Amino acid sequence: MKNRINIIHGDITKVAVDAIVNAANSSLLGGSGVDGAIHRIGGKQILEECQKIRAKQGGCSVGNAVITRAGNLPARYVIHTVGPRWGGGKQNEAELLRYCYLNSLTLAYDNNVSTISFPNISTGVYKFPKEYAAEIALQTINESLSNDSTIKQVNIVCYDIDNYNIYNKMIQNL
Ligand code: ADP
Repeated sequence: MKNRINIIHGDITKVAVDAIVNAANSSLLGGSGVDGAIHRIGGKQILEECQKIRAKQGGCSVGNAVITRAGNLPARYVIHTVGPRWGGGKQNEAELLRYCYLNSLTLAYDNNVSTISFPNISTGVYKFPKEYAAEIALQTINESLSNDSTIKQVNIVCYDIDNYNIYNKMIQNL
């Protein structure tokens, strides 16, 4: 399935797709890093829809995902998923990160998304080790694609060059 996975070096808000995945926090109210960029460029539609979700279900727990429209971003949807904060590896971080990818892809399938971009969830402020996170992301995406054909393309948009190099190397062994 790796022919449907595309590794990109750049800014996720600039790449046109059906759905952009956001590395959000549990509040869904925006934050720093990619979350900040998505809310800044997407505008108030995203925040308003996140506030409605908060009112209904009180935010989003770690490993889960919710979907909103994408405001001014070049996409139809934003899928907000909450990555785990790295705490040494014994707090189920790996499984929770895997669930971020799986639950985001499930929402994508349910909404007939055919192209989707992921950032490198949890590898910024949440300090998940980059190599380990890349291994989890690639395996989970690859497995999921082999069970479904509605998603034609998954972009992994790496903002930092370290992640870009890690993914490019790792995808060869997939
Ligand atoms: P987390 O709290 O999940 O670690 P961060 O936003 O701090 O979230 O970082 C997640 C990843 O997103 C990091 O690898 C960071 O370099 C990257 N990132 C930051 N801004 C952007 C952007 N505009 N597009 C894509 N990735 C970004």
